[in-house]
Amino acid sequence: MQKTAIVTGAARGIGLATTKLFLAEERRVVMVDNDVPELTRAAEGLSNAIALPCDVSDADAVAGLVGEVERAIGRVDALINNAGIADFGPIEETGFDRWRAVMATNLDGVFLMSQAFTPALKATRGAIVNIASISALRASTLRVAYGTSKAGVAHLTQQQAVELGEHGIRANCVCPGPVRTKLAMAVHTQEIIDAYHDAIPLNRYGNESEIAEAIVWLCSDKASFVTGQRLAVDGGFEATGIGLPALRE
Ligand code: NAD
Repeated sequence: MQKTAIVTGAARGIGLATTKLFLAEERRVVMVDNDVPELTRAAEGLSNAIALPCDVSDADAVAGLVGEVERAIGRVDALINNAGIADFGPIEETGFDRWRAVMATNLDGVFLMSQAFTPALKATRGAIVNIASISALRASTLRVAYGTSKAGVAHLTQQQAVELGEHGIRANCVCPGPVRTKLAMAVHTQEIIDAYHDAIPLNRYGNESEIAEAIVWLCSDKASFVTGQRLAVDGGFEATGIGLPALRE
């Protein structure tokens, strides 16, 4: 039987690249996003992909999605929790509304989607891949909400791996370094871009398809003994320690 995947945040960026790679590997894909016009545009012309609008932070909407997915594809072999938002600001200027909005999509969304699709994933002994960030692994300024939400995603992944392993479900986490998507470009100034190039051992941003390759591999049988892991796909950024420019001459 043809394998399937659900990809959240599939309308653009890393989620769309992941969708296209799954399709190239002959999976059926359910594309989920809350930006309906962009989701519709992205799904146009993609055969074997079904677009289902949903806000992953809305518990009722996620509950409703389960039935729609069941009717549309019948089985779920992989769940990619990729939908995310970025809102960077100093601690004192991050109001509770901004904190909650980031947590709602980035952390609540992963919890809600994974819980809702656990019965379907048990049936296939499927895989979960949660998209965190290098900000889950390294603290930085302006990321009090974003970084904390992503650290939560990284730990939630381990909770899922430990508890769901006996059902054959693997759960892993991909931590991308910077990629030039709409999300990143909204919060990265030219100065930040230059500083990342300087600090990342490979001296560049990643691209969407480099992140998608890691996600699709983690869902494949080639990763059948890999669970509970955090894979930084970041040009070596996590590996750097004291990255003072003066020490790198
Ligand atoms: P993007 O903005 O291009 O795509 C994110 C998608 O998620 C959008 O289509 C958006 O509509 C959708 N989305 C947002 N909130 C949603 C919700 N509540 N319900 C459903 N869909 C929702 O961004 P991207 O860079 O492709 O980001 C994908 C993931 O990768 C995010 O979780 C992000 O935090 C993570 N990430 C990105 C970078 C980067 O540099 N681009 C780095 C590290 C981690």
